[in-house]
Amino acid sequence: MLGEQIIKGMAVTARNFFGSYVSKERLTTVQYPEERLTPKENTRQFPFLVYDGDDREKGLRCVACQICEKECPPQCIYIVKSKDKKPDYKGQPQLYPATFDIDISVCMSCQICVEVCPFDAIKMDTEFELSTGDRFGGLLLTKDKLAKPNEYYRRIHPTAAAAVDERLAGEKARAEAKAKAAAEAKTAAL
Ligand code: SF4
Ligand code: SF4
Repeated sequence: MLGEQIIKGMAVTARNFFGSYVSKERLTTVQYPEERLTPKENTRQFPFLVYDGDDREKGLRCVACQICEKECPPQCIYIVKSKDKKPDYKGQPQLYPATFDIDISVCMSCQICVEVCPFDAIKMDTEFELSTGDRFGGLLLTKDKLAKPNEYYRRIHPTAAAAVDERLAGEKARAEAKAKAAAEAKTAAL
């Protein structure tokens, strides 16, 4: 009956309205910025670049393949490849981005760059307080600002970061075993 459904709906509304004064679970707002909610693990705001170890330049996982640049729908990623190479986490020489910029004012937080990256080099940050008074380039994040350590990635997305760590450690172990076997075969052939 229509009247019964309306009364039920009003009862739910009233329960939530009055409950919000007495039940902490029903308080949907906090006094921001004094109070802050802890972001959920699957929160996504804008991308950042992951680096391993202590050196953000040497440890950057990005190999400047430019897949993310091509796939980004609003075309807000700008990459220039390096002229030389540096060793990656497996010790293999790889190109790296001489320039890697993201125009955060254009980014729509779609996460496509993360999905297409074959190297787990770009991930979504939970940081959202990026407003700036600089209208000319204040939201153009350069490589230095985008690079964050793997420890940071582990802190904000622990489940996903653990899976990536496991995969990369497996790949590294296989590459080392292959290199060792090749070296042994070379020695045996002498
Ligand atoms: S999140 Fe989407 S819009 Fe933003 S840089 Fe990545 S692909 Fe581009
Ligand atoms: S972030 Fe990933 S997809 Fe983008 S250029 Fe670097 S390695 Fe390639």
